[in-house]
Amino acid sequence: MSFDKRGMKVKGVLDAVFIMSDWLRIILIVLLILINYIAGYYVKRAVSKVYDITKSPEKAMDKLRIYNQYFLTVLYIITIVPFVFLIAKYFVNFGKFGRIALVMCAPFVFLMIVSIGQLLIINKTYKKIRQTTESFNEQVRSIVLTSVLVIMPIGIMIAISMLISEGSVDNETLKSIMSILTPIIVMVVFNIIISLLYPKLVKADDLKDERLIMMLNELFDRAGVKRARLYQQPTKDKKTANAIVVGFVKPKVIISDYYIENAEPNEIEAIIAHEVGHLKFHHITKRLVYIIGGMCGVYLTGLLMEWYENYSGNEINIILGLLILLVPFILYMSVGLLMLYRNQEQKADKFVIDIGISPEVMITALLKLAKLNHMTTRMKKMDERFQTHPSIAKRIKHIEKISGYEYEMLDEKNNKNNKNRRR
Ligand SMILES: [Zn+2]
Repeated sequence: MSFDKRGMKVKGVLDAVFIMSDWLRIILIVLLILINYIAGYYVKRAVSKVYDITKSPEKAMDKLRIYNQYFLTVLYIITIVPFVFLIAKYFVNFGKFGRIALVMCAPFVFLMIVSIGQLLIINKTYKKIRQTTESFNEQVRSIVLTSVLVIMPIGIMIAISMLISEGSVDNETLKSIMSILTPIIVMVVFNIIISLLYPKLVKADDLKDERLIMMLNELFDRAGVKRARLYQQPTKDKKTANAIVVGFVKPKVIISDYYIENAEPNEIEAIIAHEVGHLKFHHITKRLVYIIGGMCGVYLTGLLMEWYENYSGNEINIILGLLILLVPFILYMSVGLLMLYRNQEQKADKFVIDIGISPEVMITALLKLAKLNHMTTRMKKMDERFQTHPSIAKRIKHIEKISGYEYEMLDEKNNKNNKNRRR
């Protein structure tokens, strides 16, 4: 592939960024940050407006979720690129380690500045709507934690592949084997470390309620799954209710105490049965295999294109080459991966029914989750394609379908729907 011509153009732009005066650079950096803050302010206004009109925390939070996912996150991704180029000048003087520090730190620092600023902008509105009492420090702590978990592995992968490509390894075959193995090893190691540290990071403690422990252990035994260690995470201040399973070597189940406090034991059992389903079907491992498969796919496509160029003597146009390489990969890693996630959620829900939990209990457990988190139960079709979980309404429908049980929704919004169904 000929990178030369385009490479020159890119280099021209980069040179311009490098010789730019410091004050212009600072103005541009501030501008990039400000764009994100203004967007945050706009989102705050939109969310307040929904709440003022509907008085529904669910609808307001749905607006916030949608704007967060499709607007603020996208804007962050768009603005991070020029940000990295603008600050690159201060790192390149330190050679290889400077570049690695840039790749590892810049996205993280920018994300901190943007999200803590946006938190300050939206926090009062959010707390008013959801009546949460979480301290500012705690909120910042969870922002830092999520950012580290999301950005660190990507940064480490890029840094290591930079080390390999610039390193002293001369053997080309060894180099290419290392470049495909690195991301795989980083991901597996990262997963293991996270599962070890996660309970500490979220300040989770061993589950206290003896009766609940017995009930849940019995559930693991019935499922034929090795008992996982059970934790409870303090979330009453921030009012989040959920249960998750981490780690594919030594699995741990973490339940938020806000859910424990507000749900009946049999509802908690239903939600944990869903997590046991994930363990029973090795869903975490399957996700890893899927992601690694995607990486190998890109790598092989690259090899194939190189092979084609060498044997046919034709050069593949660089834009076309990148399209062939990246478009399927991005689709595979986004829409495709999310499809796998939602498919696994449905299988875990089916497992709940198969193991003998009453469908009614599972449905009330799900509705309680939605209510405690101020989540709407329905989602637009297109929106749902970009989520890790199907909407609660869809999950309930699925449970009704496989169990033959019909739940009578008392929710106002669903009344019409229900009348039709009862005929
Ligand atoms: Zn799940």
